[in-house]
Amino acid sequence: MDLALPEKTLHRPEAMYVWADSSAIPFRDASIDVVVSHHSLEHFPDYKTTLVEVRRVLNPQGWLWIAVPDGFGFDDALYRFIFEGGGHVNRFNHDQLVREIERTTETHLLRCCDLFSSFIYLRKPTADELQHYPARAHFLGEIPAGFLTFIVLMLNTVTRLLDKSFGTRYSQYGWAFVFARRPISISDMASHFNVCRKCGSGNSVESMSGSRRSFFGLRLYRCPHCDELNVLVSPPPNYQ
Ligand SMILES: [Zn+2]
Repeated sequence: MDLALPEKTLHRPEAMYVWADSSAIPFRDASIDVVVSHHSLEHFPDYKTTLVEVRRVLNPQGWLWIAVPDGFGFDDALYRFIFEGGGHVNRFNHDQLVREIERTTETHLLRCCDLFSSFIYLRKPTADELQHYPARAHFLGEIPAGFLTFIVLMLNTVTRLLDKSFGTRYSQYGWAFVFARRPISISDMASHFNVCRKCGSGNSVESMSGSRRSFFGLRLYRCPHCDELNVLVSPPPNYQ
């Protein structure tokens, strides 16, 4: 395991970085205000022990953020197939996971939102990234970049149009949850239907105003965060 922070990590002088096993968190009981587990529980073979540790270190006023993929969805299945598992060793179901987290961490679910995919893992890999890809994913390095971009744009469009029309969830990645032991003031969490294929940001339709255009019938927008060109599909009700 590489113990160095990646170069692109923003180093904050006021922060202390600790690299440790999540099943033996090196902090005192009830000493942590906020625990964030962002797209990580699906990778931990012993995630149940991690949740027990979260219960131990979280203080009574603390809260817990967890985001995971839908282990039974199309996006996760495609990712696992192309990347030969891709390090995902757990499959979570929404209701089952919520019950397990509430019971194990002694918290209650406060907020939840759906997270959508941009199939970001299908982007053209750099030569360095390609060295770490499994054999089945090497084709991503051989497809011309322009054609791969077209495929990803089409995949984002078709899956979202199917989801809007038939209530399927082909474009959904998973969920984000906020749990706490006591009621805390927290605003609603928006579910963004459109997600940038380069930086992974969820983008509301309002945030794209001024950057929208049409191209051969496709509606496109520039990501407000990274300026990448993305396809725009109007969100269904209850999504932004
Ligand atoms: Zn972006």
